[in-house]
This record gives sequence, structure tokens and C-alpha cells, in this order.
Amino acid sequence: LGDVCVLGLGKTGREVARYLCGQARGRVGSVTLYGGASSSEGDATRELEALGVRVVVGTEEVEGAYDLAVSSPGISEFSAFFSSAREHSREIIGEPEFAWRESPYKWVAITGTNGKTTTTTLSTALLHEGGLSAVAVGNIGNLCTGEVAARTPDEWFVAELSSFQLACTRLLHPRVACLLNVTPDHVEWHGSIEAYAAAKEKVFQNLDAGNLAIVSEEDSWCQAVISRLEARGLRVCHLNVHAQPQAPCAAFVRDGRLVVRLDGKEHDLMATTEVPIAGDHNLQNVLAASALALELGVSAQDVARGVRAFHALEHRIEPCGEVAGVRFVNDSKATNTDSVQKALTAFPKGRVVLLLGGHDKGTDLAPLAADVVRDCKAAVCFGAAGERIASALEDALAEGDGTTRVVRAPHLREAFDAAVSEAAPGDVVLLSPACSSFDEFGNMAERGRAFKQMVSDLGKKRES
Ligand code: ADP
Repeated sequence: LGDVCVLGLGKTGREVARYLCGQARGRVGSVTLYGGASSSEGDATRELEALGVRVVVGTEEVEGAYDLAVSSPGISEFSAFFSSAREHSREIIGEPEFAWRESPYKWVAITGTNGKTTTTTLSTALLHEGGLSAVAVGNIGNLCTGEVAARTPDEWFVAELSSFQLACTRLLHPRVACLLNVTPDHVEWHGSIEAYAAAKEKVFQNLDAGNLAIVSEEDSWCQAVISRLEARGLRVCHLNVHAQPQAPCAAFVRDGRLVVRLDGKEHDLMATTEVPIAGDHNLQNVLAASALALELGVSAQDVARGVRAFHALEHRIEPCGEVAGVRFVNDSKATNTDSVQKALTAFPKGRVVLLLGGHDKGTDLAPLAADVVRDCKAAVCFGAAGERIASALEDALAEGDGTTRVVRAPHLREAFDAAVSEAAPGDVVLLSPACSSFDEFGNMAERGRAFKQMVSDLGKKRES
């Protein structure tokens, strides 16, 4: 490995530096970690220094010469920090690519704008159901590098990869790779939607004829990817919840049942009504995970059993109680507009009181607004993006014949109270905010927990 430079003093940078000074010690010359402009000395730097890492804080100007640089996901490939490291290193890669090089055995990779965590978790569960040993790694919150140290080569790494991580991969070669969807998000990081989509497509860059690419047919970016993969002669499993692809490999819904076809052989898995996680988008996630597991040799019976036993993950259309006949659902993880549009498919039309708002990402709101005024009884708009969302909804109402009530509230707290007054027995109060949470909370999990606390307090108040 030679002399290695690590960028970033967060979880990723620290884990890579620890690994280099631990397992990889004998193959490493020196390890230098650059913390970045806002980093300073503290417990983290002292811990690394004790391991033999040279830590440089307070600057993004890399000096010296390195054989390899390993970057962290928060650092844009267009930033001065990244460029500086690239100039001083023979090669610059991301953390999953680094882990892959250390353990290039059984990997599968899952990416997409939305649905990654659900599909990764379910895929891992289905492999377990089939008796295979597997661990979910990557963007899901479990660094690949940590697992390289802990696992043996016959365990499957089911890697959730973000566009940031994929932008910095080169050799990573999964046996199965899945692209769930590409819709606008994180465009500010990648520079353009084209660059964002291109980063996601890199998940397929090293696939060969024996591997399987699982790709949605349902958005135009993914359709273009399918054409390019088929032109390379690869096996592509066409994923489609709303139509029945004719391709030799496909995963789709036919007559209300989930079907996966691999090289012409069909597996009829179960009725869509048996799938325990709600919404059309979750059918897509289940089809993708099922195709992946079947491809790795899990039987159709085991796949069906594993899907039936699966539960909604926290903050993803998570049911969190019923008070006075009103159901409450926490979808705090819906931080972009497409995920909210998908969430609305999980509930009866006209019965949803939707909580929208938070940190404004500047996305075009017209497509979301059209769906909200078609499907929701009321929408309560809050936080930094609240006013822009409320106006978009009012524009959509002026254009159509929707009757959605649009309510404004400063923060989640007031928005929750307003939603409760809008809701009648039989309705659903859904937090699916379409925005990140940073204007009011540390992250989406904190926001989701705050919402659940409000539901639980309301329940106690009504009881007493
Ligand atoms: P990710 O890890 O890609 O953020 P998650 O599985 O955590 O994806 O789901 C995030 C949000 O996106 C959920 O709240 C849900 O509303 C929505 N979602 C989940 N799966 C899909 C999908 N296949 N297509 C569109 N939206 C989805």
C-alpha cells in the first residue's frame, strides 16, 4: 500500500486510519490523516497519533507524496481539498473501494436515490433465510472496512453504496449490482444530475457476463443505463412494479403476485397483499432483494418466508400508533420529493394529513405538489422550506380542482398540533417531509423520534 493519505476526521477517516495501523500495518509505509479546514486537535487526533498516524488539522492543502489517498463521503470530488489530495497521490479512492481491495470476494452492491437501506436490509435478511452468511455494510451505517477486519472471505458483503461513495470507486466488482431509481437529489454535491447519475452507474463498471445487474425500468435515467448494460452483453434483470417486462431476467407484478424470472425460469413468490411493508416503492424494494437472493441461490420458499417476516424499518413509513382513531406514521427518512410521492401510494386517497418541511434543498416542487393536492386531505408546511412548499401547493390548487387544506406552521411541534386538529378518525397523519432536517434537528432520526414522542404524549394526554 505504501504511503497512504486519509481525508477526513469523521467515522470513515478514523476507521480507515485504524485499519491501516492495525491489520494492514505490515503493508503500509506511513499513514497521514488530513482532518480538513474546520478540524482541530482533540481526543480523536490523540487516539490516532497514539497508533502512529500523522494527523494534520485545520487545512485542506495536502503536502508531500502518497501512493494512495482514501477519501471520506462528505468530501466532494470537486472540492479544493479533494483536488489537492489527488495532485499529491498516485491514486485517490473512497472507503468501500478500499475495503473491496482488502477483501475482494463475495460482494453485492445496492444503489439508487431511494430505497437503498430497505433493500440492503431485506437482501441481507433473505440471504440469512437461505442459510448464507451475510452482513450489510456501507452507507447503511456500518463501514465496510470494519467488517473486512471481522469477517472471513465466504461471507457476503451486502453493500449499500451512495453516489458519493461510488464516485470514488474503480475496481470494486460486485457479483450482483442493483440500481433502484435515479431521481434528483444531492445534485449540489455532484455538480449536475448527469454527474449524479453517472456516479450511480459506476456500480456496474466492472460487471462481467456471469454477473447480474438489477435495474428499474421505471425512470428515464435507469432506462438509459439498461440500454448501455445490454449493449455490453450483460445479464440485466428488469425491475418493474407497473408493467411486465419480456426480458429473460425480470422482476415484476403479474395478476397481483410478485414474480422473478431469471434466465427464463420463473419464480412465483407471493401475492402483493402478503408483503408486510406498504407502498408501491416497497414492492420494488422487495422484488429487487428477491431477485438478488434468488440469483445467489436462495430458494423461492426461503425468499417468500423472509419477505413475510420483514418489518418496516425505523423512520421509513413506520407505523407509530393510533390515537382517537387517527393513525400516525413516521417517514422522516423521506428527505426528497420522490420518496414522499412514493409514500403517498401506501395510503387511501383523501385520508392523509401530511407534514412537509425542513431544510430546503431547492428542488423543483411542482411534481410533488401535484400529487399532494390530488391525494391529501391537508398538508401542514413547516420549517425553513415551509413557505416555499405552501406556495407550491397553492399554485397546484389554483391549477386543478383539489380541495387539500394548506396550513403553515413554524416548527414541527406546531405543525404536529395543526395536523392533529385537521385529522378525523380513519385518517392518517404522515410525517414524510421531503426535506432534510438540519434547520431544526441534528438528523432525520432525531426528527423522527421527536415526532414519535409527540404521538406518544398525545396518546397519554387523551387517556388521562
Ligand atoms: P435510502 O437508504 O436510499 O435513503 P430508505 O430505504 O432508507 O432509502 O428509504 C428512504 C425513503 O425513501 C423512505 O422513507 C421511503 O419513503 C422512500 N423509498 C423507499 N424505497 C423507495 C423506492 N424504491 N423508490 C422511491 N422511494 C422509496
